[in-house]
Amino acid sequence: MSKWYQIFPKNPWLSLYAWVAFCVLPFFFIFRSSSLLEIISGIILLALFFVSYRLSFNSRTGLVYMWVAIEMIINIFMTYVFGYVYLSIFLAFFIGNIRHKVGFFIVYGIHIGTTILTVTYGLIVHSELYMQQLPFIALSILGVILLPFNTYNRHKREKLEWQLEDANKRIAHLKVIEERERIARDLHDTLGQKLSLIGLKSDLAGRLVEQDPRKAHKEIQDIQQTARIALKEVRELVSNMRGNKLSEEIVRVQQILKAAGIDFVLYGETTLEEFPLLVENVLSMCLKEAVTNVVKHSEATRCTVLIKKSAKEVLLQVQDDGIGFKRDQQNSVLESHGLTGMRERLEFVNGRLDIEEREETTVNIRVPNVILNENRGEAE
Ligand code: ATP
Ligand code: MG
Repeated sequence: MSKWYQIFPKNPWLSLYAWVAFCVLPFFFIFRSSSLLEIISGIILLALFFVSYRLSFNSRTGLVYMWVAIEMIINIFMTYVFGYVYLSIFLAFFIGNIRHKVGFFIVYGIHIGTTILTVTYGLIVHSELYMQQLPFIALSILGVILLPFNTYNRHKREKLEWQLEDANKRIAHLKVIEERERIARDLHDTLGQKLSLIGLKSDLAGRLVEQDPRKAHKEIQDIQQTARIALKEVRELVSNMRGNKLSEEIVRVQQILKAAGIDFVLYGETTLEEFPLLVENVLSMCLKEAVTNVVKHSEATRCTVLIKKSAKEVLLQVQDDGIGFKRDQQNSVLESHGLTGMRERLEFVNGRLDIEEREETTVNIRVPNVILNENRGEAE
């Protein structure tokens, strides 16, 4: 909020001192006059100018045009009578604050027109005075032409930035709602249906247990099967929520390698739409660990990542031109949590990891497409 005594526009182009000088300078021109009437009217009009200038900043209605009109008239008077043209700079700073497009252009045009006319008149009437300050007058006219546009565009940009920020907030909010709805839908379609089926079948089994124990046994088997499927679906649901996309991981990996000064080469597609998300998550995790190992242990200058999909499997290859793995006397790799963790996760999706060392060190990660086939089988 601006204070009542702040009549200077907040603008980094002109310091406060310059604005004070612009306020004091007119008095110098006024007191050059020999007529007392002119001096008194000059002081009153100047005071009126600053009051209306201050009010025009606060005005949000059509009154703003009235204040601007008063300021323009006083500006013309000061130029005609005292040869003082610099009040036009104040106006030029303000005009850009007019938000209404048509209003802005009309006031802007009038201001340029009146300034040029009054200066031309002043050049004829106060020719000696004007010639002394010609460069300043030229600068003022330039200011009158350029400043309103600068302020107007700044306001427009600020407004657009604000709108963009607002839109981004809305999008984020909508995404949260959408995700909530998706989770609710998934829970309903997976758990909800399966649980009601379990409920119905256990009622039936309860009734059959004495009449027909064999049928009851069959129902209980169905219940077990349904419960297993439900559990599997919930796991998939949870892993989908925590999901790490391979394409996103590639971007992160690229950043890590760049920061470490290692060249990055990528072959193959990074989308794995035809594979279950669980496979994608496991591969993302393996990629992250393998590349972290390259950065930590390999002393390589280049790291190549290859993703090769086939109907049978997906192959993720992380290759580096570094020093290679350290091995023990039995020539086996000294594994720690990273490699063990990768193997454990891969086991979960029937995948495997092997290390190849020829000219380059290669970590091969393979995951068969069986999960997808299994899913298909279940669906059918
Ligand atoms: P962490 O458990 O934090 O991952 P780590 O990276 O040492 O520790 P692993 O990821 O299991 O453990 O790696 C085991 C060892 O294999 C490493 O200590 C390192 O000596 C070696 N190694 C792994 N990747 C490479 C590589 N690209 N080049 C050379 N040596 C490697
Ligand atoms: Mg590691």
